[in-house]
Amino acid sequence: MARKVLVLGEVRDGSLRNVSFEAVAAAKTAAEGGEVVGVLIGDSVSALGSEFIHYGADRVITVEDEKLKQYTPDGYSQAVMAVINEEKPEGLIIGHTSLGKDVAPKLAAKLESGLISDVTALEAAGGNLVFTRPIYSGKAFEKKIVTDGLIFATIRPNNISPLQKDEAKTGDVSSLSVEIKDLRTIIKEVVRKASEGVDLSEAKVVIAGGRGVKSEEGFGPLKELAKVLNGAVGASRGACDADYCDYSLQIGQTGKVVTPDLYIACGISGAIQHLAGMSNSKVIVAINKDPEANIFKVADYGIVGDLFEVVPMLTEEFKKLLI
Ligand code: FAD
Repeated sequence: MARKVLVLGEVRDGSLRNVSFEAVAAAKTAAEGGEVVGVLIGDSVSALGSEFIHYGADRVITVEDEKLKQYTPDGYSQAVMAVINEEKPEGLIIGHTSLGKDVAPKLAAKLESGLISDVTALEAAGGNLVFTRPIYSGKAFEKKIVTDGLIFATIRPNNISPLQKDEAKTGDVSSLSVEIKDLRTIIKEVVRKASEGVDLSEAKVVIAGGRGVKSEEGFGPLKELAKVLNGAVGASRGACDADYCDYSLQIGQTGKVVTPDLYIACGISGAIQHLAGMSNSKVIVAINKDPEANIFKVADYGIVGDLFEVVPMLTEEFKKLLI
């Protein structure tokens, strides 16, 4: 059944995040031959419309207002609701990012619709759209279909491949004027705590440190390795609790969920709450002094040793291969 599906794009530092392109690919599947409409919200986002189209959106609607310069749940939900009222889509796809996790339930409540969150795969099979999502902290997957009403899902970054970029693809970029009012939150300043560089939740390579790194300085060799592999640095809660790094780096049940191509766990024991955030990574390498550490149970490759010896060695070897 062909349907119209909206995709909410996410803009960071003036660029569309990769998860937005993955969301377009998911929307293409959900549209089943129908139209995919990108939605861009901000104070000056229309220049990004063509890139959205190059990645598969058929057309793009922008809602621009200086009150939308920074994300607020009220502002964004007003803007998206206005587009929904105008377009009357049968589907809505959003990235399962901090923004998506915040705004999607609010929209679902306003729309009195269901929401399938944290989708890792989507396929059209047997006349149904089948959504796959992890349950029980990633220990099992469930498959869901929507039998009635809006198809509304958030998709986990790094799981659904974006479509091939086609710079020849063209489409309409139009703007919708929306009166943004009654904002209960005003963002005065954004103070960035995480280090600059590759975004942790979208990184293809994650080098994570645990209590085994022993200090803030102990993250130094991990940062070096991340730099060589163009990856991001993450952490266990143990490392965050010990004040070795910021909580924005925490991976796990109560932190970020990551699914990189390569996850290197350094000095992390592998508590169940940590595994909940990384066990679906494609290749897991564990470095730990303790051969009995639980992390080795989920690792594809295990190195029993001192991380302060092993990590610099890996960095040197990768440098020879990559630089
Ligand atoms: P530890 O368990 O202390 O492990 C340190 C490891 O480093 C050990 O295995 C040790 O052998 C190794 N090591 C030490 N020195 C070296 C060295 N020089 N070289 C190599 N290896 C070395 N945790 C999370 O990570 N994320 C979460 O989201 C999360 N949420 C939680 C939610 C709840 C409700 C609760 C109760 C707990 C949660 N936790 C979470 C905490 C979790 O249970 C563990 O306490 C935590 O993950 C342990 O962190 P760690 O592995 O760094 O530390």
